[in-house]
Formats: sequence, C-alpha cells, structure tokens
Amino acid sequence: CASYHLLSSLCSSNSEKWTYETLMDLSLRFRREMDKGLCRDTNPTAAVKMLPTFVCSTPDGTEQGEFLALDLGGCNFRVLLVKVMADGERKVEMENQIYAIPENLMRGCGSELFDHIADCLSNFMEKKGIKEKKLPLGFTFSFPCQQTKLDESVLLSWTKRFKASGVEGKDVVSLLRKAIQKRGDFDIDIVTVVNDTVGTMMTCGYDDQHCEIGLIVGTGTNACYMEQMRNLELLDGDEGRMCVNTEWGAFGDDGSLEDLRTDIDRELDAGSLNPGKQLFEKMIGEMYMGELVRLILLRMAKEQLLFQGKTTAELLTTGGFKTTDIYAIENDKWVLRGLHLEPSKEDCIATQRVCQIVSTRAAHLCSATLAAVLRQIRDNKAAEKLRATIGVDGSVYKYHPEFSRRLNKMVRRLVPDCDVRFLLSQDGSGKGSAMVTAVAYRFAAQQAE
Ligand code: BGC
Ligand code: MG
Repeated sequence: CASYHLLSSLCSSNSEKWTYETLMDLSLRFRREMDKGLCRDTNPTAAVKMLPTFVCSTPDGTEQGEFLALDLGGCNFRVLLVKVMADGERKVEMENQIYAIPENLMRGCGSELFDHIADCLSNFMEKKGIKEKKLPLGFTFSFPCQQTKLDESVLLSWTKRFKASGVEGKDVVSLLRKAIQKRGDFDIDIVTVVNDTVGTMMTCGYDDQHCEIGLIVGTGTNACYMEQMRNLELLDGDEGRMCVNTEWGAFGDDGSLEDLRTDIDRELDAGSLNPGKQLFEKMIGEMYMGELVRLILLRMAKEQLLFQGKTTAELLTTGGFKTTDIYAIENDKWVLRGLHLEPSKEDCIATQRVCQIVSTRAAHLCSATLAAVLRQIRDNKAAEKLRATIGVDGSVYKYHPEFSRRLNKMVRRLVPDCDVRFLLSQDGSGKGSAMVTAVAYRFAAQQAE
C-alpha cells in the first residue's frame, strides 16, 4: 500500500486527476494552444508553433515518376528509391537502405553530419546504378522547421537525439546541396523538405482520400493536419487548405502543463539534451518512456519499496531500462534479470504496474491532443459528424502491446461525434517525402500544360 501510494504520487501529481475530465480539459487547453500558434499576434510567443508546410494537397492517385528520398530524425537514417506508377492502380514500389549515423555525428559538427548524409546518398546511388540520373529528391527531416516554400526549411531547434552544431537557424536544403556539390560525383534536384508527420499523412492519403491527419508516436511525438488557409494567419491567402505541422511535442514548454508534470518528469528533463524543451514529448516518446520507468523504479528501490532496497549499475545508469523493456513487461515477459536484479513476485507486479501507468498516461495524453485536432477539423467543416482517417507511424504505436488500443479507445470517448479510422502507414515517413515530391511534380506538369 505504501508502495502504491508512492507510485501514484510519482507517476502523476494526483492520480485521481487522470480521469476523462482531466483529459477533456487538457484537450480544450491544447485547442487554445493551437489557436495561439495559428494567430499572427500570438504566434511569436506560442509554445505550439503550428508551422506551415506548403503542402496544399493530398495525392489524387495520378502521380507518377521515380524519386529519391531521405529520412532523417528517428532511430534510423534511410535512403529510398520510390517509383510511383501511374496506371490507376495506386502502386508504389520502393527500395531502401538503412545507414547508421554515429552518435558523434548526431551531436558533433553539423557540416560533418551533412557530409555523411551525402556520402550515404552517393553509396546508395552507386549501388542502384543511378548515379548518372538527376532524380528529384524529397527530404524527410523530422525536426521543427520554419518553411517559406517546399524546398526551403530553416531548422528551429534540434530535438530527440540530435544536437549537431551550426545547423539551427540554417536552411537544411542549402546545407545538403553544399555537401553534395562539394563531392561533385553526382547531382540531384532537391524538391521538398517534409516533416515525418506530413510524410505519413501523404502516404496514407494515397490509399485513403479521407486521410487529413498524420500522427507519429515513435522516438518523439507530433502530428500534422490539413488546415483552412483562412485560419493560417501567418500566410496570405484565404483560399484552400494547407497542411500544418503542429509540433505538439513542445506543448507545455511555456509552463502550461506544470499541474500535470511530476517530479520524475522534471528529473528526466533536467538530465536531457534539451532541458525545458519538448516537455509534452518527454512524457510520451520512446526515447523517454523507459527512462521515466527507470527513474521511478530507482526511487522506489531507494525508498526500500522494491528489490529489497537493492540497486544495480544498470538501474543506476541513464538508458539502463529501455522502452522496449516496457513492451516486454506489459506482454508478461520478465526482463528484470537483465538488470541483474533478483525480483520477488511482488517486485514484478509493482514493476509491471509502473510500466502500465507510464505508458497509459502517454496514450491518454496523445488522445487529448489528437481529439483537439479532430475537433478543429470538424468545426472547420461545420460538420455535425466528421469522418476522418489518421495516418500513423512510430515504434511506440506499432510495438507497444496496448498503446494503440488505449489511444483509439480514449479518442473515441473524447470525440464521440467523429468517425475515426487509424491507418498504420508502412514506411510512411520516408516514402511520404517522395509522395509530396510526386504531387509537386504533378502540379508543375499541369501548370506547364
Ligand atoms: C520533432 C517533430 C517530429 C517528431 C516525431 C519531434 O521531436 O520535433 O518534428 O515530427 O519528433 O518524429
Ligand atoms: Mg521516422
């Protein structure tokens, strides 16, 4: 009982507060944050940036061509060759290769990071025998960027595992072009930069015309959706729609989530690469959930509530408990021996409970923000009942045994008047930038006619 008490005080500032009402309140709060980001006067101080993406249309199925794509931002860096067929069958063929990005490049000198990206691209083109072709390229770059057009994208701040110097405040397209020119062994046409949420929405949108939301719950978390131009005060023009990258991972960076954050959240943040930033993301992402559990277990062990008060080197080390361990434990597989602990039956039950609390909280937080996005779209359409498809990608959504079910269920409770469908995207984030490039090419071709 004592352990349960400590646990709930660590896992949420007030456990009874994690109810439907809390989530509904949080959802309304996030809706106001969205407004703040969309309005010209309040945007400069908004924590949730609501970034224009210059993607104005989802695929219509008539796109075609051969495209290169890069996908940087999650746990892997990938180069892809994507062929979009125009035979009315909506067929996309894809070949791809994963390349490692050494830690010292993620957090070293930015120009070396871009040299490495160009190097991988060269290697890929060599292997596929396409080095002589000048193919259009889409760059999925999964960080908050200020875009002024499809192929200009200024990095606002690194997130997740990246912190390379000399890139923040710069246009990543120029950096990539420079790195490629310096080599001189191949040439490409960089057409688009897109966020992974946008890539995911576009990939799913190719199969389902109702897809107007892209959601990522992976290393980090974020969502994008199709917004009315008239609501996007930052840009001129009232006609049509544009995809907005919400960057909801930064929700709370202005202090607005302090009533929900706990000591453990603060401890994790203090030890992170970007203290004070991405506070919402740090309650949800794969990069953080395991660490939250580790910090809770460690606290409980120190208070003699677990493992007979024993701690091990693993339990004391950042990253010693992984989010994938949460998946295993909630699947009833015991991994505590890997931490060189000798858990009793009670230790195992308590640990499983900690995992459930942390991962359920994450799913419910996501459901609250997602519900706000759905309500915004519904109100834009002045529809009584909205039918919407959400394109989803990310390791937490895909591999946690219960996350998707908990998220889907809570979203339906929070917006009962929406008919929501979650569509898991296959390699959406990378393929998606090729899709955006394909749509851009279709428009260019139509204009030329
Ligand atoms: C980034 C977003 C990205 C999300 C998911 C966040 O850290 O700021 O741009 O979409 O991670 O990859
Ligand atoms: Mg990704």
